[in-house]
Amino acid sequence: MIEALQRRLTERHQQSRYRKRRVLETAQGPRVIVDGREVLLFCSNDYLGLANHPQLVAAMQHAAQTYGVGGGASHLVCGHSAVHHRLEERLAEVTGRDRALLFSTGYMANLGTVTALMGKGDHILEDRLNHASLLDAGLLSGAKFQRFHHNDLDDLERRLKKLPASGQRLLVVDAVFSMDGDIAPLPELAALAKKYDAYLMADDAHGFGVLGHGGAGCCELFGLDQDQLPVLMGTLGKGIGSFGAFIAGSELLIESLIQFARPYIYTTAMPPAVAAASLASLDLLSSESWRREHLMALISHFKDGAAKLALPLMASNTAIQPLLVGDEALAMTISAGLEAEGVLVSAIRPPTVAVGQSRLRITITAGHSVADVDVLLAALHKVLPSALRVTAQLP
Ligand code: PMP
Repeated sequence: MIEALQRRLTERHQQSRYRKRRVLETAQGPRVIVDGREVLLFCSNDYLGLANHPQLVAAMQHAAQTYGVGGGASHLVCGHSAVHHRLEERLAEVTGRDRALLFSTGYMANLGTVTALMGKGDHILEDRLNHASLLDAGLLSGAKFQRFHHNDLDDLERRLKKLPASGQRLLVVDAVFSMDGDIAPLPELAALAKKYDAYLMADDAHGFGVLGHGGAGCCELFGLDQDQLPVLMGTLGKGIGSFGAFIAGSELLIESLIQFARPYIYTTAMPPAVAAASLASLDLLSSESWRREHLMALISHFKDGAAKLALPLMASNTAIQPLLVGDEALAMTISAGLEAEGVLVSAIRPPTVAVGQSRLRITITAGHSVADVDVLLAALHKVLPSALRVTAQLP
């Protein structure tokens, strides 16, 4: 065992894929201290800059005084508190669904939902670039599991046509793809799901709080109701600035998950104070809507600047703005060069992305200023080798 593990670790090193954790000495925000030095952070999913918002902090402190710290037990035993319940009601309201169900993490929400809905003899179709938790869920479910080409409706329809008549059908996509930043064509996917009698599930981890006029995410952006998009997953640890996740949908869906979703049933409820922070954040979605507007303005500013510098940006209009490098070692070198310039951006390498698709996953947040984005652009200009420049922006 020990030798085998050592061999695997050595291999990881040799492939430039070894992952290391940085230790942040301060709260999440546009500037953090790492190794005693202040750096600009461009790799957090705290898209609205809420993770250290005084109202979230106060809500959490107050709830900790009222409810204590620990969840105490699973939701079904005796861990479901009034604040969890209120948060579920608010999430249902915000997303325009009958009900919502809290999960401790997005990973568990995806694993729990797909495995509760699907089993042997059923059929799952997932976008190739779906999040690891959805891919793992598909494999674990015991259903027949296939992946279609990224955002390719023709490939998907070909596969749907070939499905046998027996078994349930679940079509699963990321609403915003976590490593590419592009958005799934949800209205077209909903139409295909209806045509071929499949249930549609969208993981809105990177859209909830950010997309749509009121921040309700992909369902608001595209105006998709519960019939068109029956299984909506959102996370609370990214745009919402807190922690946890939820599934929103019909009464029947939520009751089924309460009964059958094992990662819901067999785990301790999240601390009530965490739920209270999420509730406070949902209030800010409307009272501080300037955060979404500012974020959108920063994204445009970054894209314009990157185009002028001929940076190899991928086609994304969201806060996830990946820069395609290709080679794994080169992505690491560029990330280290940026860090030397005082800018933190993570290099994303296989197995998270395909071989030859290594990239810098730049994320912009509402906590940044135009001047911060200019510092990022100047650092990229200085560090990026000229061979990576493009003459025209990628499609
Ligand atoms: N889905 C997607 C698309 C994600 O990017 C992530 C987090 N990286 C998750 C699900 C998991 O969410 P959580 O971090 O709450 O477990």
